[in-house]
Amino acid sequence: MDSRRAFYIGRFQPYHLGHQNVLESIAQEVDEIIIGIGSAQASHEPDDLFTAGERVLMMTDALETLGVKHYIIPIEDIRRNSVWVSHVISMTPPFKVVYSNNPLVIRLFEEAGFEVRQSPLFKRERYSGTEIRRRMLDGEEWESLVPTSTAEVIREIGGVGRLKIVSSGDSV
Ligand code: ATP
Ligand code: MG
Repeated sequence: MDSRRAFYIGRFQPYHLGHQNVLESIAQEVDEIIIGIGSAQASHEPDDLFTAGERVLMMTDALETLGVKHYIIPIEDIRRNSVWVSHVISMTPPFKVVYSNNPLVIRLFEEAGFEVRQSPLFKRERYSGTEIRRRMLDGEEWESLVPTSTAEVIREIGGVGRLKIVSSGDSV
């Protein structure tokens, strides 16, 4: 039954409590969730810090608490919006419903005939990847914005050190 299976995509750089909150509400409405990891090819850049595999690791324990079946599918950029939905479909289990807050994602799936549902934003000024990366760079507290298990994975990877290095220029 495709209609009980939903698709949700993000870059998850890193996975945070805003994403977790959205997924918890989606889990109330559907039986299975397909989670697309966008820009899967990117890593070691200031705005795309973690590899797709590291992002999988970062969300796995937190997703166990959702209590619904889920599939994590890395999706590389194709930089060709007109065929992006077909690209996603070529990589994922079949689905009929899409959840997103991103205007371009919403528009592309609507044009392709999908039912798109918008989820409310959860304390967006705090729970945002951009804000978390800013705090990491500035040496501020960021751990409370992500699930505990996610913070542990980021520590193991040495995420803050990596961010500082990829954000700095050549040394003299
Ligand atoms: P970045 O600042 O790096 O873009 P982000 O917080 O927007 O990170 P994404 O991975 O780009 O995270 O987001 C994936 C999806 O999650 C997007 O549709 C985004 O709108 C949504 N989202 C992000 N933060 C929240 C939040 N606090 N509440 C609800 N939805 C959120
Ligand atoms: Mg975003």
